[in-house]
Amino acid sequence: MPFSNSPQSSPEPVIPVDTMVPYKSINEECGVFGILDRSSKGLGHTMYFGLYALQHRGQESCGMAVFDNHQLRLHKEMGLVNQVFNEHVLDSLTGQVGIGHTRYATTGASNLGNAQPVVVRTPFGAMTLAHNGNLINTEELRQFLESRGYLGHGNSDSHLIALYINYLLNQGKSLKVAVKEAMEACDGAFSIVIATGDTLIAVRDRNGLRPFCMGRTKNGALVFASETCALDIVGATYERDIMPGEILIATLDEYYADLHLNGEGRVESFFMDGPKKEHLCVFELVYFARPDSIIHGHSVYNYRMNLGRRLAQISPDVEADIVIPVPDSGNVAAVGYSRESGIPYVEGLIKNRYVGRTFISPTHELREKGIQLKLNPLKDVLRGKRAIVVDDSIVRGNTSRNLVKMLKDCGVKEVHFRISSAKVTSPCFYGIDMSNKKELIANQLPDTEAIREYLGVDSLVYLSVDDMVSVAGYDSPCTACFSGQYPAGTPVDFEAGLPSASVQ
Ligand code: SF4
Repeated sequence: MPFSNSPQSSPEPVIPVDTMVPYKSINEECGVFGILDRSSKGLGHTMYFGLYALQHRGQESCGMAVFDNHQLRLHKEMGLVNQVFNEHVLDSLTGQVGIGHTRYATTGASNLGNAQPVVVRTPFGAMTLAHNGNLINTEELRQFLESRGYLGHGNSDSHLIALYINYLLNQGKSLKVAVKEAMEACDGAFSIVIATGDTLIAVRDRNGLRPFCMGRTKNGALVFASETCALDIVGATYERDIMPGEILIATLDEYYADLHLNGEGRVESFFMDGPKKEHLCVFELVYFARPDSIIHGHSVYNYRMNLGRRLAQISPDVEADIVIPVPDSGNVAAVGYSRESGIPYVEGLIKNRYVGRTFISPTHELREKGIQLKLNPLKDVLRGKRAIVVDDSIVRGNTSRNLVKMLKDCGVKEVHFRISSAKVTSPCFYGIDMSNKKELIANQLPDTEAIREYLGVDSLVYLSVDDMVSVAGYDSPCTACFSGQYPAGTPVDFEAGLPSASVQ
């Protein structure tokens, strides 16, 4: 039996225990940022704030590429934004066109060679590219490019995209045509910024899987970013989301000529061929995006609040004293749950914000302690209480189980687990690093009752996929990791055993 009914007495679960401390076994993907700004004296400093706001989307490496009168300045390193950039480096990153990236590796190894922005030498000078998302036809692209002698030094799908554009430029295509054709050859998820000497480009895949927005600052600078929180911090006003399959191009001279003439810089918009429909990742609303970001005109904070309210509506009445969140991702949903149910919200778990992804626990005993390094219970608040515990998702279940054990050990009388998403049953191929299908607890255990027993909780309620979609309030979000319905298809070598990975 892989699972015992009692968390205290069960043997080692078949779910592999993390060798790292992080509470979640899903990881954010990447953040991208692009700016066209002739008036700025210190573009690097502005971009620093933009990347800082996108730090939650990737903590392994980051970088900036800036063109100063067509001269490329590039800086990228492993580490967090405030570790990679200092005053001296930022002072050197002057220019008029820049792109930046925060990375969590979803394809390609986590090393400096795969840090972004990537750079390729085109017939017209350097071109840089930064990508959020995952392609699903990487092997096809790799073989195509290798057979034509285009071998990159990096091994990520982002390098392949840049090489593909370069291949088309070398065939004599214009930048606009090369970008369009290269993007049409890419399947999967991509929100991409590209910069050349005087041009800034933004592209979003035809399924609109990852968020991507544009805004402008008071002095007219154009900004593209994964999330609106990065616009806010650089003083840009949110203008709109970039549409599925849309390509936006702005060149310095045209943009500023139009700005001076008409008060708004010219950004050319055109679209890739083929069907286009927005399938924005619903997990962005539940977990990945920052709560202060705006998606489809509504704050992520409000989405999470409504998920929590809905969760309270569908949960059976249980006698409980407090609602506590699993911080930080459960915070807002827990407030929503509390408001809807009338059960008081309290903070019962304190998060150590300084436990990074790279803490490797050498022994099983220390790994078991991992959860406590990250979250410490407030014993005085919790002792003797019947607690509703709100979290955003359960992936493998091992960390939730350790958390429950920790709560019970410190005297919590009853733990009623409430999850503001549906059961995670399928892997993500669109840029979220998630456990493979076999490791997902909802695949290992047949029903909610079995999961409840494994976690050792007194009751367990998930939202349904329909609940998530109706709260999201937009037509057809991607729900593939909950439903197995993949709006942009799956890789051809996908072997994880989905019944039939459907393409909508
Ligand atoms: S599979 Fe899940 S995590 Fe991946 S894009 Fe779809 S909803 Fe988001």
